[in-house]
Amino acid sequence: MRQRTLDWRNRRSWLGSIRFYAGELLDPAMRRHLERKRPKCWSDDLSWLPNHEELVPAFCELLASYYSYAKAFHGCRPENLRSYYEHGLQGHQPDRIQARFRELFHDVDPNQLQKAIDELGSRSTSEKGKIWLTGDDRKMLDDFGHYSINGSEYLLSLATRLTRFDRYGEDYRWRLREIGVPTVFEVDIPFAFIRPRQRTEVANMILSAWGQNVTGKHLGMDSPPCYVIHGDVPAGCIKDHYHPERIMDVHREPGMYISNITRCEMCA
Ligand SMILES: [Zn+2]
Repeated sequence: MRQRTLDWRNRRSWLGSIRFYAGELLDPAMRRHLERKRPKCWSDDLSWLPNHEELVPAFCELLASYYSYAKAFHGCRPENLRSYYEHGLQGHQPDRIQARFRELFHDVDPNQLQKAIDELGSRSTSEKGKIWLTGDDRKMLDDFGHYSINGSEYLLSLATRLTRFDRYGEDYRWRLREIGVPTVFEVDIPFAFIRPRQRTEVANMILSAWGQNVTGKHLGMDSPPCYVIHGDVPAGCIKDHYHPERIMDVHREPGMYISNITRCEMCA
């Protein structure tokens, strides 16, 4: 079977491919109907699409059988890149992050460290075992590149708590910028790993883009899909990685984070 990868950055390619797997579903009569009516083709409300209750699930199935993989990007600030190539991308592990938190802030009152962990308690369990990825790395670095600047969101939240307790002291968040290397992993996720709800979201986004093309009515909303994987992503799915030099920084003025580490021992 031919392996095809859905690369969200290549809009022309995935729009052009629709006819190969859903040409019968989105037939000329449907196009004419949309051209005439010119509805707003939202992705979160598909009622503009005739017979959408049946059509969307059917489209979703065709999409999933056409593509073997979805290309996705994971922003992080790892201290050990080699482990990613050995063990793959591992789901969020609160215990490990808490241990690292205690090491990094060993000079702070242990009661305060515990207090920060306790206050974020439920959050660490709800996110356990999950990995966040996005379909477009450029957008990620512009809009939510802070994972590559600060590393784990959970670790950042812990450091932020700590800073709040110690209002006139150090801003502990900056310590996270002294360890690790800002990194973006490029991963081909097997379509089977993507949860049904997220598959439907991607299908909706593709249908919306297709509809906007047909009607010529562009809604100007083109955020990439987000993939939350429950469980680990095997090392074999990692296609590449790089170290971004410029990342939009939402936590500090003047807004652009410049990284001076652009190579690591695992760089090809
Ligand atoms: Zn590298």
